[in-house]
Amino acid sequence: MLVNIHSHQNNNTSETTVLSLNLTAAEKVFSSDESGYFSVGFHPWESNEFTKEKMWLLEKIIKDDRFLFIGECGLDKKCDIPYQQQLSVFLQQIALSESAKKPLIIHCVSCFNELFEIKKELQPQQLWIIHGFRGKPQLAQQTLKNDCALSYGEHFNEESVKLTPIDKLLVETDESNMPVAEIYNRLSQIKSCKPTDLTAGYLLLKANIKQNKL
Ligand SMILES: [Zn+2]
Repeated sequence: MLVNIHSHQNNNTSETTVLSLNLTAAEKVFSSDESGYFSVGFHPWESNEFTKEKMWLLEKIIKDDRFLFIGECGLDKKCDIPYQQQLSVFLQQIALSESAKKPLIIHCVSCFNELFEIKKELQPQQLWIIHGFRGKPQLAQQTLKNDCALSYGEHFNEESVKLTPIDKLLVETDESNMPVAEIYNRLSQIKSCKPTDLTAGYLLLKANIKQNKL
């Protein structure tokens, strides 16, 4: 089963896609009986629109079994929003991830040292997934050492893929229209395995779905 761990494209989904939604879209799903798997959270780029009321809404929505992960959330030093503001919103989502027992799907740009510091200090139990990882092997190694999973999309560094253990390697399409199977094919060639051997996404989904749907 080729799980797509992170997609924003409604037209690039299969039954095993985790569709990443903003709060408004997530609220619509929450009050409907739409089936599927979703993630919801505050993107660092939207941290300036964050309010306590929105956080309460996120806390309510995330209890729904269809919502598997919190995010994408994270830190981005290349965007205009002050770092402290991003950090505050991110820390609240980490706390929610722990209390709701849902993994985080993380957008991290030029903030990896900060991210590792936070992780060391808080010692979270939930999995942290670095989505759209394009970093070089040295950063991949460091990220894995900090016990994060790496999710690869259309663009990636081949050497980083080579050193990522299969049980820490996830696959996503993000904004791309490329079929997830094609990304699985490319990654599995690098790993010298079959696409269906890349089962981390499947196992993660299975572990996070309470009903026996998979
Ligand atoms: Zn994304």
